[in-house]
Amino acid sequence: MHYEGNPIRPPSEASSIILQVAAGCPHNRCTFCGAYQGLKYHRKPADALTADLEFAARYCKRQDRVFLADGDCLALPFADLGDLLRLIRKKLPWVRRTSLYGSGRSMAKKSAAELAELKELGLARVYIGLESGDEEVLRRVNKGVSAAEIIAGGRRLRRAGLFVSVTVLLGLAGTGGTTRHAVMSARAISEMRPHQAAFLTLMLIPGTELYHAAEIGEFILPDADKMLAELGLMLENISPETMIQIHANHASNYLPISGRLPKDRTALLNAISAARRGRTSLKPEYLRGL
Ligand code: SF4
Repeated sequence: MHYEGNPIRPPSEASSIILQVAAGCPHNRCTFCGAYQGLKYHRKPADALTADLEFAARYCKRQDRVFLADGDCLALPFADLGDLLRLIRKKLPWVRRTSLYGSGRSMAKKSAAELAELKELGLARVYIGLESGDEEVLRRVNKGVSAAEIIAGGRRLRRAGLFVSVTVLLGLAGTGGTTRHAVMSARAISEMRPHQAAFLTLMLIPGTELYHAAEIGEFILPDADKMLAELGLMLENISPETMIQIHANHASNYLPISGRLPKDRTALLNAISAARRGRTSLKPEYLRGL
């Protein structure tokens, strides 16, 4: 397969065929993100894509999922995305799920009819980075879209029948804004009603603006206990009507937990509380990763 840079994929796409359709991220300005440092966003040449599909057709017959990389492949023109999904169906007929990342901007640019057609052609799942439901935090980290736009986009995807997965970043408000970040993120999730929410814990990446801000004391990263308190507050504040799969078991998390809301809320909160009281050991820093 022809990869440029290091294609990033969600943890639940670990066993998927990673088809890199475009390299990098069209936004690439979030202050905390080091995923595509130094990589200028561009579409991959058609012949590289054709060769990758031929390779997958020969050697990836046991993998029944495809993930279209890199950041925000939903931003591809509708016709191109449709052609690509048709090609995947033709060349890899055993594939039963194709997924990609979508941003607030790219979700808004696809009409309801286009989203429904993409679903019909095999697009099954869209991963969205909400990061925070607090508009002020999103402005500060230069997310480029508002929480309101991301919520609206997620709801449109759901209405089109797509599976929606959203990511929230613990610690993104620093030590000062943690309560508001938690409450507003829980509210955003309750409004959006995604099928699943993944809670990752912020790690400062050298070379990013946020890393620099932390070095000069303008941003203070919450410690492990505050990160857990923030997660607990989020889970407490997601509305009781929201039925959602929770994943807080990413490599960056201090306490790997997962479950379904609302039924597992008490168990999840008890696990967090036990860890905060020192009854469960946390993942040591050297074992954390992105
Ligand atoms: S967080 Fe997502 S949108 Fe922001 S720069 Fe990174 S890949 Fe692009």
